Amino acid sequence: MKEDRVIAYNDRIEAIRKEEFPMLHDGIYLDHAGTTLYSKSLMDSFTTEMMKNMFGNPHSASTSSRCTMSRIENIRHRVLRFFNADPAEFDLIFVANATAGIKLVSDAFRGCPEGFDFYYHQASHTSLVGVRQEARNSLCLDTKDVDEWITGRFESDMASRSRATLFAYPAQSNMDGRRYPLSWCQGLRKASSRTEHRLYTLLDAAAYVTTSPLDLSNAASAPDFTVLSFYKIFGFPDLGGLIVKRDTASILKQRRYFGGGTVDTVVCAKEQWHASKTENLHEALEDGTLPIHNIIALGSALEVHHKLYGSMTDVALHTSFLASKLYRGLKNLRHSNGEPVCVMYSIPTDDAKTVLGNGPIVAFNLRSQLGAWISLAEFEKLAVLKKIHVRTGGLCNPGGVAAALGLEPWEIRQNFSAGFRCGNENDIINGKPTGVIRVSLGAMSTLSDVERLTAFVEEFYRENYNPPPIPRIGPIVEDDTPDLFVNAIMVYPIKSCGGFRVPADASWEVRPEGLAWDREWCLLHHGTGLALSQKRYPRMALIRPSIDLSTSQLTVSYQGSLPRIERTEISVPLSVNSNLFQSKDTSRMKESRVCGEGVSMMIYKSKDITDFFSDILGIPCALARFPPGGSGKSMRHAKAHLQSHQSRSILQNDTQSQLNGIHTPPDSDSESERRRILLSNESPILAINMSSLAVLNSNIIKNGGISIPAEAFRANIVLGLSSTSPSNLEKYAYSEDNWKRVRIGAYDFKTLGACRRCHMVCINQETAVKSAEPFITLAKTRRFNGKVFFGVHMCHIPAVTPGTSESQRPTISVGDKAVVDTL
Ligand SMILES: *Cc1c(COP(=O)(O)O)cnc(C)c1O
Repeated sequence: MKEDRVIAYNDRIEAIRKEEFPMLHDGIYLDHAGTTLYSKSLMDSFTTEMMKNMFGNPHSASTSSRCTMSRIENIRHRVLRFFNADPAEFDLIFVANATAGIKLVSDAFRGCPEGFDFYYHQASHTSLVGVRQEARNSLCLDTKDVDEWITGRFESDMASRSRATLFAYPAQSNMDGRRYPLSWCQGLRKASSRTEHRLYTLLDAAAYVTTSPLDLSNAASAPDFTVLSFYKIFGFPDLGGLIVKRDTASILKQRRYFGGGTVDTVVCAKEQWHASKTENLHEALEDGTLPIHNIIALGSALEVHHKLYGSMTDVALHTSFLASKLYRGLKNLRHSNGEPVCVMYSIPTDDAKTVLGNGPIVAFNLRSQLGAWISLAEFEKLAVLKKIHVRTGGLCNPGGVAAALGLEPWEIRQNFSAGFRCGNENDIINGKPTGVIRVSLGAMSTLSDVERLTAFVEEFYRENYNPPPIPRIGPIVEDDTPDLFVNAIMVYPIKSCGGFRVPADASWEVRPEGLAWDREWCLLHHGTGLALSQKRYPRMALIRPSIDLSTSQLTVSYQGSLPRIERTEISVPLSVNSNLFQSKDTSRMKESRVCGEGVSMMIYKSKDITDFFSDILGIPCALARFPPGGSGKSMRHAKAHLQSHQSRSILQNDTQSQLNGIHTPPDSDSESERRRILLSNESPILAINMSSLAVLNSNIIKNGGISIPAEAFRANIVLGLSSTSPSNLEKYAYSEDNWKRVRIGAYDFKTLGACRRCHMVCINQETAVKSAEPFITLAKTRRFNGKVFFGVHMCHIPAVTPGTSESQRPTISVGDKAVVDTL
């Protein structure tokens, strides 16, 4: 019976999904706890309302003003009814979001003559935790503490206290969906009534109400204050609510601030007096002009939501049905050695032991079959390519995440000191993950979303072999070194823009920081000062710099079609002419960030140059230069190092721990600490091996894809075999994993480790169009310890015998022979 009902619901959603949510395209949206999606019907209904009526500022007497006023009061009433709240017992205060509602309560309590004490549950959202900064005393409680208060410990705990006390908790954790009983409010109210001590309850319903009915029909058991964000239920508008129980509302009058809208009469100048509005509670708390258009939209949202999904009970049934499918699907995934693929932090929605169940949120982490944690950053790279929208990281829930991951306060502080911030690349620290993957469902989620997510995890993270093989690593070809030559030389003068192919007859200079003119320039966002990346702005691939040594110019043209751009080309001299830059004083260069690192750069002041790039990309940006030879923040160092899959000795002696990621070999070369680079991400020079690309391409083609050109990898040196028979290609594919040195022409290069990849390799450098390959196939064939590698970092080693002309100006050319020396 129940099953029939949810299947019917699911079919109904499948039928309207394309029409109502065109913005989904073929993506899988599973971040409803972040915000749910707005439907086309909702946006249409709102537009119609706005066009049909004239809504003026409510603080006047005109008809347009009255129209707004009456509409707002109707909607206020409807929202209260939506939560079964009797308007005689409750008032609704419109706020910007749940956080603003929490701050309003916090402001009022801070206004109490003796301040207030604050207790919050461990599963609280950061927005609740922050209230502790305003309180005289604060304490984080777990479920056991709260239960003990209710059953008797409250009296003794509060014996010597006189201050107003606020207890806050989430009705549902935004991290793992766990629910906390609404009955706590009544229990605590009873406990406090046995004492002289007054305790107020603040319920954070922001996550709970998104997919469940909140029933405030029994005012005696309801929280004193309930906060929520409407956009999380309806997808639109951006608006929040604070529902206040009228009989406890007087404490809110302790708030000191008043503003336009919340005050009746104000005397300024010689005397300072004001009278707050008293007729209606909400009038005394809604500062300034109400978000009138958002409130109008909320009226549409209530109506359309009901039309599309029925009641909140229907939504709750549907989403918990999907969540339990998802939960079981993920939990049952096993590697072939029987170990689980997912470590679950949520509990099943239909867990019989918990009366409350769980919201439609599944929080988990992934592990390899030998138990290594999968990096969240790496998971995101694949999820993005598969158009999956989920949330990863700390999720604004410090207590919940720490409890789930077993992170002690000292570990969190140590991670912070070690440079870890939410969203970092290196998110596995000391063998522990620093965040979780959160999949959350909403009213318009369907069975197929759940199935597609589970299939994705299975496809990429379930290891289907027992015993585990050593992943594909290049062969060690010692006595039979390949017959390699330089196929192409590329420089990328402007970081993240198109490449410049070094002419076949040129001898290109090799500098300590890399090939001459490589990544010496970049584009900086005017607002943030960050260096722009092609990952974010794929169109940068069509910005094509070229180096002309005969005129000593860097010329930049644009290969795309844009009607707005005025010039099609700009040039700057290769020499550093300080007159061209904004500040001649090098100590006052522009502070910016490249790959998360603080650097100083020189910005070109020409308006033509700035306009050229800003017009192409449609964002305010400037050309900047980072010339070699700086110091302090005008200097960067290589970060590349040997990866664990590359170390032969480790492979032979200690395969197990290497695969577990326990043993990371130390940087093979402490010099690389000091090896200078310009604006490249990691190292002076990046090389790729065409035989590896040939094998990768044959794998892509096997899976129905099309082959990827070498340009996608943005290497500086492309090395090819002179004999490209299939067996030869297969034989030398990925042999670069084991290269130690490469002698190109007359010069020696040292390898610095494999190159870790992200989905930038998926941008077609000719067209700037992004696809899923080659990253998807790389992830299946070249993933070690959860990271994906292709290509090898290198640097030039200065000649041992100085004094020769070669040692003064090393160069390489297309066609040079390359001889490798293996690890
Ligand atoms: C989203 C959320 C918040 C914060 O909501 P805002 O709209 O960002 O103010 C607070 N608590 C929980 C449980 C949430 O899910």
